[in-house]
Amino acid sequence: MTTTSSATSLSGREAEVIGAVPTGLFIAGQWRPAEGGATLVVDDPSTGRPIARVADASVADGRAALDAAVAAQASWAATPPRDRGEILRRSFEALTARADELAMIMTLEMGKPLDQAKGEVTYGAEFFRWFSEEAVRISGRYSVAPNGATRLLTMKQPVGPCLFITPWNFPLAMGTRKIGPAVAAGCTMVVKPAAQTPLSMLKLAEIMTEAGLPAGVLNVITTSHSGAVMEPLIRDPRLRKLSFTGSTSIGKRLVEQSAEQLLRISMELGGNAPFIVFEDADVDAAVSGAMLAKMRNMGEACTAANRFLVHESVAAEFGAKFAERMAAQTVGRGTEAGVDVGPLVDGPSQAKVGELVDDAVAAGARVLTGGTTVGEQGYFFAPTVLADVPASARLLSEEIFGPVAPITTFTSDDQAIALANDSEYGLASYLFTRDLNRALRVAEGLEFGMVGLNTGLVSNPAAPFGGVKQSGFGREGGFEGIEEFLETKYVGIQM
Ligand code: NAP
Repeated sequence: MTTTSSATSLSGREAEVIGAVPTGLFIAGQWRPAEGGATLVVDDPSTGRPIARVADASVADGRAALDAAVAAQASWAATPPRDRGEILRRSFEALTARADELAMIMTLEMGKPLDQAKGEVTYGAEFFRWFSEEAVRISGRYSVAPNGATRLLTMKQPVGPCLFITPWNFPLAMGTRKIGPAVAAGCTMVVKPAAQTPLSMLKLAEIMTEAGLPAGVLNVITTSHSGAVMEPLIRDPRLRKLSFTGSTSIGKRLVEQSAEQLLRISMELGGNAPFIVFEDADVDAAVSGAMLAKMRNMGEACTAANRFLVHESVAAEFGAKFAERMAAQTVGRGTEAGVDVGPLVDGPSQAKVGELVDDAVAAGARVLTGGTTVGEQGYFFAPTVLADVPASARLLSEEIFGPVAPITTFTSDDQAIALANDSEYGLASYLFTRDLNRALRVAEGLEFGMVGLNTGLVSNPAAPFGGVKQSGFGREGGFEGIEEFLETKYVGIQM
């Protein structure tokens, strides 16, 4: 592992890009300050230093944002699907054209290396391209009832005003995954990004407005007191849907709150992905897949491989090769050239990753590489591989959310499936094998919403992303994504 020097303040170009991000609340097509002029500070996790101040919304500001979404709903639902789709298409093109600028904003507020940030911009933009194409394919059906006397007309209509709450780890794409299908379906919305990473979403609102999105369709509020500002909106009878991406604990609380209005809800929650390597796998391909599944976003991904389950006959080879690749990673500030691994998002996250490693080592795990924090400032942690991790280690049951890979072994397919399913989570899973029948048998047996077969990447705008068990419910992307924003109404017709 190599470490680059960490800059302590924004460079000229960085300051210019950050200085061009709107910092107000975006309500009814206007940028405005928060009530009383309150602001919150955004830090650069590679230095721990402030880079921007944005508006800090009050409860009244939150309500004003919902007022705007409610006011715009009827006309937006009546806007021709082609027009809605073309706004998304223009937004996709603008995001693509401005990917470097957006990537820099994201890297500075969140920490991931610039090339990964650019990858997220591309991934996030693709949801707009996908749903620009889906906007014009919303359809119903006409059928003859079994009695022959009645006709059934089925139509799809927008759910209505939505509330989106998104996490800090993918500051742009977790928003576009919801905004894209909502815009396509004819829903208006209030979006609340995480206080730690609000800048990408504010920039997105500006870009979508330039692309022609009418006032009130998308409203963005930033706040340092998310619970107090969100709860009244969730309990407001005018809201029709809540879509949340974040931790399982907060998700459960929001499900309880949304019961009052029996809201339509989508919950994209935490994960604890198993990464299974069978004895017939191409070990080099599995190592490359492991790098992707573990190290994308410094391990701060809901889809991050959290448990490496490796057949005992290939565990030594896999562990050695994986540790070698991990040790070769360059850790440093994400804006610097050649950096593979940026900082974790904040001090508590860095401390938690350290605690999980210490707990595993105390229980008997062997450190193949890494295991410690890196640098004097910022929240860096070394890419880490642990072998012989005992079942009692906390990091096998908790989301690590850091660049740490624990390896355990298995001896049979049934044991691999049982170990993989031994989690309350069920989001992403990965398996590496060259045996087609084994692949299908294991894929069927895995209690997860997504399975990567000989790949370390499952996210794809054309695929239904989502989990089972305590990873939540609902799907984002694919044909399924837009259904979350549509109601089905049927008209019975007597002939
Ligand atoms: P988090 O703490 O649950 O926060 C997620 C969002 O909820 C943030 O915008 C946060 O705002 C807000 N929030 C916090 N408390 C709230 C409350 N009482 N009422 C309303 N909103 C509230 O999660 P995180 O730490 O940001 O994100 C990491 C988690 O997200 C991990 O568990 C990860 O697995 C999960 N995740 C899941 C997916 C998926 O698709 N399944 C994708 C990405 C991440 P503030 O932070 O500003 O308070």
